[in-house]
Amino acid sequence: MIDFSHADFLVSAQRFSQCPADSGAEVAFAGRSNAGKSSALNAITGVRSLARTSKTPGRTQLINFFALDDKRRLVDLPGYGYAKVPERVKLEWQRELTLYLQRRQALRGLILLMDIRHPLKEYDCQLLEWCQTSELPVHILLTKADKLSRGAGGGVLQKLRHQLDKKYPGSTVQLFSSLKHQGLEEARERIAAWLA
Ligand code: GDP
Repeated sequence: MIDFSHADFLVSAQRFSQCPADSGAEVAFAGRSNAGKSSALNAITGVRSLARTSKTPGRTQLINFFALDDKRRLVDLPGYGYAKVPERVKLEWQRELTLYLQRRQALRGLILLMDIRHPLKEYDCQLLEWCQTSELPVHILLTKADKLSRGAGGGVLQKLRHQLDKKYPGSTVQLFSSLKHQGLEEARERIAAWLA
């Protein structure tokens, strides 16, 4: 079993070519800005300041690598979809992200975070398309599940499962709340299975 609490910042890459050696195994986290990605990384690892929740514009544009041990890593991908950056920067990031998703040998799976109140936006669909092309497994966290009642949350989950089965078969989805510590074990199990 993986000890997530050993997660430690390793290195940032501005471009795909700057990523650390492509060996071992890693799981990447992606989501639109404000989806709750930093909070989820902190909650899943239990390392409270791992991914800063108050972000400087510079850091959000980097691919951040966190080491779990000498062979396994978690990777924080930039949420360019909604971030207030110029179109030129978005396109540049799109290119680097595509390179990372398509070429990275160590990459075992993608955790895609979506605010439960705004699922399957354009950015999410684009990532799902790329992952499908690269045959990369995807697990979706419907974040901030505490913002909806149990019934409403379950409804969104069911509807999304149905949509994914039709368009992106094989991808999985769960409810998640960093605030209420909901779904932490389920997410950890998925990541651990990919990194095993
Ligand atoms: P990121 O931009 O995707 O890294 O998102 P953050 O983790 O910084 O979170 C964005 C905002 O959503 C912050 O104001 C967080 O406090 C809030 N947030 C994150 N996770 C949760 C959650 O599980 N429940 C609630 N209610 N708010 C959350």
